[in-house]
Amino acid sequence: MKHRPLLALLLLHASVVSSLLVLPSEGHAADGRPNILFIFTDDHAPHAIGAYGGLLKDVNPTPNIDRLAREGMLFRNSFCSNSICGPSRAVILTGKHSHLNGFMHNGNRFNAGQQTFARLLQQVGYQTAVVGKWHLKSNPVGFDYWRVLPGQGDYYNPVFLGPDGREQIEGYCTDLVTDMAITWLKESRNQDKPFILMCQHKAPHRTWMPAARHLSLYDDIDLPAPATLFDRFKDNASPARFQEMEIDRHMNLVFDLKVSPDKLFDPTAGKSVDRSGFRNLDKMTPAQRRTWNAAYEPKNKAFRQAKLSGEKLVQWKYQRYMKDYLRCIKGVDESVGRLVDYLSDSGLAENTIVIYSSDQGFYLGDHGWYDKRWMYEESLRMPFIVRWPGVAKAGTVNEHMIQNLDYAETFLEVAGADIPADMQGTSLVPLLQGKSPDDWRKSIYYHYYEYPSVHMVARHCGVRTERYKLIHFYQFGEWELYDLENDPDELTNLYSNPAYRDTIAELRTELKRLQVVYQDDSDMSEMPAEWKQKYRKQ
Ligand code: CA
Repeated sequence: MKHRPLLALLLLHASVVSSLLVLPSEGHAADGRPNILFIFTDDHAPHAIGAYGGLLKDVNPTPNIDRLAREGMLFRNSFCSNSICGPSRAVILTGKHSHLNGFMHNGNRFNAGQQTFARLLQQVGYQTAVVGKWHLKSNPVGFDYWRVLPGQGDYYNPVFLGPDGREQIEGYCTDLVTDMAITWLKESRNQDKPFILMCQHKAPHRTWMPAARHLSLYDDIDLPAPATLFDRFKDNASPARFQEMEIDRHMNLVFDLKVSPDKLFDPTAGKSVDRSGFRNLDKMTPAQRRTWNAAYEPKNKAFRQAKLSGEKLVQWKYQRYMKDYLRCIKGVDESVGRLVDYLSDSGLAENTIVIYSSDQGFYLGDHGWYDKRWMYEESLRMPFIVRWPGVAKAGTVNEHMIQNLDYAETFLEVAGADIPADMQGTSLVPLLQGKSPDDWRKSIYYHYYEYPSVHMVARHCGVRTERYKLIHFYQFGEWELYDLENDPDELTNLYSNPAYRDTIAELRTELKRLQVVYQDDSDMSEMPAEWKQKYRKQ
């Protein structure tokens, strides 16, 4: 330990005299409580993170996020409660399921008057800040500093909203949000208070537009494709066959895959398409646009000449989709590196909890899909990695079932704040301390509501235990049961198998129990027969 001059000795003496005084040291807030840096992305599936393993790990997509896992704790069984952007964020803010916080689907507007962890942290002396993707329609409340994207926001030259209005900034969104986070840490925060900073990226959300420096990354390799890329949903309940999120039939060559950025004609559709979703090209500077076209046009030309069809076309679309997705993630991973380096350089690392998470998982060609929404594993899972020096043992993997429902209570316990009785999660602090509480949850509850809507994923609720998953597509009166141990890809629906009658009865009882515990009395009635017919007629 370094010896400090007389003043420090006097302070040390004072601290002995008054047990209330905690010695300020470099990087520590005056009161010693930990800071929280919450790095949060949009649609980053765990199986696109090296530390979680899986098909893409050999591509080394996330060295900086992997470093957090090596230096902290990785949660293997981290799940969302409603796999879609706005609802997941509302659950995180409130610690309550969608039906109680009121943000059940992306068409809702967050009731900013309600209790959130941000308001509660302010009350116990934390400084609160959020930058980047917000996606809750109403403006942030409970934050001392906020600068967020309106709606989905743009990848290039995005507009930001703040208390003083709107401002468009030239640059790439992931980099700009990182700059804002670091600038706030460096220049704007009150150094006498602990903070929570939420650095929330738009990436890697659709339409997967990478930074200029990453446009040609992975051009020289073929990515491995999932075994279920050509799943025909033979065993599923009917909703899986009537969705609109297949790489084959629904992923658009212009809107999603940038094949003809200067044209309105989509060869897949055989007609002109609305390119409004790809409008961000029109906001690029001439230099950005030249760089973009120089990277994509030669690849697009080769694609047009190849005149692919059938499974070869699907394979090509998968490669273009997944490379753009991973290129966006490369930008995110570099952001994580910059933030973590800043914490080290500024002396903040030791007393700052760093969390990496994303609002839900995503289909990376699994079951032939992109997007999220379903209770199936790929979109149910969320990354959750925590580096907490001196508390979470470096390099540990935690197998307990956790949910986004738990984040609010975790933040409050870290801050020493009271946890309101109406929050529905459980603080993760004991798990981070390496404990295994006997009464930890043995099942999780899920409920998705956005239907009929984009991608046409039917409403469903369900329960997942360590081994089984029971899903109820109540509008259609259909069920699915999967044995996750023997069938991790969820290809064999066991609901009609008589050997599982007892398991099904137990899981149905558990589902009902969870609906009572979480007070979910949403309308779960079946649709009239003619409506079912209409939605199945594809
Ligand atoms: Ca999302």
